[in-house]
Amino acid sequence: MKITDWTLYAPDRNFHVFVELQTDSQIRGWGAAYSQKDQVLGALGWLKRFVLGESPLEIERVTEKLHQVSFWVGRGGAMTHAISAINLALWDAAGKMLGQPVNVLLGGKHRPAVPAYGSVLFHPIDTLAERIATMRERGFRAMKLGWDPFGKGSTADDEKLVAAARAAAGEGTTLMIDAGGSAPYWPLRCKDALERARMLADYGVYWFEEPLPPDDLEGYARLTDASPVKIAHGEVLTRRQSFLPYIERRAMDIVQPDASKVGGLSEMRRIAWMAEARGIEVVPHGWNTVLGVAADLHFTSTLTTRTFVEFNVGNPLVEELAETPLKLDAEGCLPVSDLPGLGIEIDPEKLRRLEQSGFAGPSWTWDERKEFEAS
Ligand SMILES: [Mg+2]
Repeated sequence: MKITDWTLYAPDRNFHVFVELQTDSQIRGWGAAYSQKDQVLGALGWLKRFVLGESPLEIERVTEKLHQVSFWVGRGGAMTHAISAINLALWDAAGKMLGQPVNVLLGGKHRPAVPAYGSVLFHPIDTLAERIATMRERGFRAMKLGWDPFGKGSTADDEKLVAAARAAAGEGTTLMIDAGGSAPYWPLRCKDALERARMLADYGVYWFEEPLPPDDLEGYARLTDASPVKIAHGEVLTRRQSFLPYIERRAMDIVQPDASKVGGLSEMRRIAWMAEARGIEVVPHGWNTVLGVAADLHFTSTLTTRTFVEFNVGNPLVEELAETPLKLDAEGCLPVSDLPGLGIEIDPEKLRRLEQSGFAGPSWTWDERKEFEAS
C-alpha cells in the first residue's frame, strides 16, 4: 500500500492547513498543522517528493526521514509544523488500513474517556461571564482563560480578571490561567510571574500557563521551583530536542506539546515519555483543530496518569468539521474513539466552503491586533 497523492485545504486566512493523504487502496488519512499558512503550504510542496510512494504503515521511518532531509531547510519552524500534519495523516491512514484505532497502535488505552477543559480567551471581557456560563451548561468541569489583557497591567489588574473568572466558574470548577507568554514583546519576567502565581494560588488555580517568554529556560526553572501553582508551557516548542533541556532541568510542572506543531503524535509521545519518566505531567496543547483534539484523545488515553485534553470552545475547526462532532459525557470527558484511525470523518466540502468564505480564523489574527506592537 502506497501513498499516491494528497489534497491540501487552507480553511482560514492565516493559520491552518489540512492534509488529506490518498493511497492506492482508496484509504485516506487526515492531518492538520497550526502555523502560518503560506509557509506550511511551501514546506509541504517541498516535502511531498519524500512522501509519495511511501507506505502509511511505516510511520516512524517516513516521519524520521522528513526530519532528516529538512535539517538544512527550516527544521524546527514551519517545516516541522508541516511534518506534524503529515505524521497525523500517516497515523490516521495506518489505523484505517489495519482496522484499528490510533490508541491501539500507540499501545493501548488505559481509560475510555479523557477529561476535557473548555478553553477560551479573556477577550472580549464584557462577555466573559456569559461564555463561562455557557461552558458550564455544556458540561465542562474544567476551564482555561487566557491571554490579553492578562500580564499587560499590574498584578491587581490581573487579580480582577481572575476573580471575575472564578466567580463565574464557581468553586467546583477546575480553573487554569494562560498568560500567553509566547505573544510578541511579552513583558513578564520571573519575579513578576511569581507575584502573579501567588495571587493565582488564592483562587485555587490549577496551573499557570506560559507566564514567561518561551526561551527563558532558567527563568522557567526558578519559577517552577518557587511557584505555589503548577507551571505549564511548551506549546510553541517543536521537536523532542527542544524540550529536552526543559525536561532535564525540571523547568515546568506540566509539558504541553502540540500535535499539530511539534512533529505530530510520533514526536509528542517521545516528549511525553521523557517527561513522565521525570515526574512532569503531560497535557497536550489542543488549540488547533478537531484532528489535533482527536490525536490528543488517543494519546492521553494511553498515558498511565489521567490528564486533560484542551477543547477550544466555539472554534468551528474543532466543533463543526467532523461528521460526528466530539461530545462531552456526563462527567465532562470526551470519549476516545474505537473507530479505525483517528476516528474523525472530515467533510471536505465544509473545508472548501470555509476557504471560499474568507473565514478569518477561529479567534483573532496577529496582523489585526495593535496590542502586539512594542510599546
Ligand atoms: Mg497557551
